Amino acid sequence: MLNVPSQSFPGPSSQQRAASGGRSKVPLKQGRSLMDWIRLTKSGKDLTGMQGRLIEVTEEELKKHNKKDDCWICIRGYVYNVSPYMEYHPGGEEELLRAAGADGTDLFDQVHRWVNYESMLKECLVGRMAVKLTALKDYREERRVLNGLLPKRPATDTPATESPSSPSYDWFQTDSSVTIVIYTKQKDISLESIIIDHQDGSFRAETIMKDYSFLIHIGLSHEVQEDFSVRVVENVGKIEIILKKRENTSWKSLGHPLEMHGSFIPRKDRGLYYRKCQLVSKAVVTPDTRLFCVALPLRTHLQVPAGHHVYLKLTIAGTEIVKPYTPVSDSLVSEFKEPVLPNNKYIYFLIKIYPSGLFTPELDRLEIGDFVSVSSPEGSFKISKLQELEDLFLLAAGTGFTPMVKILNYALTNVPSLRKIKLMFFNKTEDDIIWRRQLEKLAFDNERFDVEFVLSAPALEWNGKRGHISPALLSEFLKRSLENSKVLLCICGPMPFTELGTGLLYDLNFSTDEIHSFTA
Ligand code: FAD
Ligand code: NAP
Repeated sequence: MLNVPSQSFPGPSSQQRAASGGRSKVPLKQGRSLMDWIRLTKSGKDLTGMQGRLIEVTEEELKKHNKKDDCWICIRGYVYNVSPYMEYHPGGEEELLRAAGADGTDLFDQVHRWVNYESMLKECLVGRMAVKLTALKDYREERRVLNGLLPKRPATDTPATESPSSPSYDWFQTDSSVTIVIYTKQKDISLESIIIDHQDGSFRAETIMKDYSFLIHIGLSHEVQEDFSVRVVENVGKIEIILKKRENTSWKSLGHPLEMHGSFIPRKDRGLYYRKCQLVSKAVVTPDTRLFCVALPLRTHLQVPAGHHVYLKLTIAGTEIVKPYTPVSDSLVSEFKEPVLPNNKYIYFLIKIYPSGLFTPELDRLEIGDFVSVSSPEGSFKISKLQELEDLFLLAAGTGFTPMVKILNYALTNVPSLRKIKLMFFNKTEDDIIWRRQLEKLAFDNERFDVEFVLSAPALEWNGKRGHISPALLSEFLKRSLENSKVLLCICGPMPFTELGTGLLYDLNFSTDEIHSFTA
């Protein structure tokens, strides 16, 4: 709701025209870009009208500030005076006013909870909501030393009924190792279900179970070596994290609990966690697209599921800016062999640099060895949708190709039932086609895979398909290999492209279950 780009743009076909759920963006006045907002926040002007004072805000007080020129909004317990921000908000004043004088956390989360409002609005902070005494949580129990027993309760209130049952954990040791065991009681867990970060005295292991997150967060009682291993026993839903002791002494306890330890809550309620990753390489793929490779910190385990994205965070002009990106494999074909660099240590991104964009030029300026913060993954695509599939159709425009890369890899290597995988790839010109040669080689080598390029601004000599996504193009392309074959269609690109294409797929009688549209 509170971030994203600038001014009286975007162009009619830019992804900035609309956000998730068809939410329209409004044209902003000249001088009201995100960069202009950042400049204003640095100008020293008193944006709250409180002369730097922070106050405790009662509900009654909050309710009074419900007008455009006096608009306070509460997000996660902090109250902001957003009146000065109104004209800079890409979603428009109306959207902000929906939460005027109220708690806007849910509205904010619905639109894009990843936006770093703390940084964006820090000069608008009025204070904290006054907490009612009854709402105060008793954390005394969590202060006790962890003694290796299974926790008696999840640290949060009882989760919603449709949630998976709360996991538990235990630990044991040998002379040289400590093993933390998480019992998820779920059968569909994998190495992608667990994200581990061990940094600065904090050991953090987040287990993702459907839309829920279980967190082990402790300060270990003893030093361990940098490398650790992770094992998943899928059929019983058990995850083992094996730490190597630095000294062969017996541990009396695992450590002490840190913030939110033992909590089992909906993922959307868990703040995004970032780790600093180092840029390892940057390669030109098309004139404006680069393949970035970043290395995860040594003590991190993180694997991004196919079709999921992460958020990259950079500080630009003193403000933290966050944008989503979809990791790819290092190339289209290398996963069929042993990857040169293991995927659980490195993350690859195909990123288009927009010369007048806010984030990507800054990213492009990073040098090898520089750092960028990378969040834990998010996304709604479920790889299980590929199981027993017979036809897979991928419709991508520009960098909307990125989610297709891992999906294509997975489909070709792990789904024997697939008879045909077809990619229709929309670009402006031949030069813009990402990994064209790799795609053509893959189609040549693999009879199950076909690719078709469609160009909207081709050179005269182009003798392939031309134009934009249309009923004619789709009805010819989307031929099932067998009548009633089990089919999935994935579509991703600029938001208007995705919206138009998804509508066309419905017109062609594909059902909701058969379509996955990648939106924000
Ligand atoms: P912005 O500042 O957002 O600008 C974007 C466009 O607006 C550009 O065309 C820019 O030239 C134009 N513009 C900016 N300012 C002006 C102005 N004043 N006047 C006129 N025009 C202007 N992108 C990738 O490249 N790779 C990915 O893997 C990827 N994954 C994504 C995953 C998800 C879930 C989503 C939602 C988006 C993804 N994106 C991806 C897009 C990415 O998040 C950013 O939107 C994109 O990189 C642009 O960021 P920016 O800040 O550089 O540009
Ligand atoms: P681009 O080069 O500007 O456009 C690619 C092709 O799409 C061009 O042929 C273009 O035609 C066409 N197109 C654009 N708007 C269209 C519309 N309204 N109807 C029909 N065709 C249209 O694309 P890009 O700059 O790489 O942008 C890629 C987009 O994908 C970004 O918006 C990014 O946010 C999004 N993305 C989303 C995800 C996700 O998971 N949600 C992941 C990656 C990328 P023209 O020549 O006429 O413009």
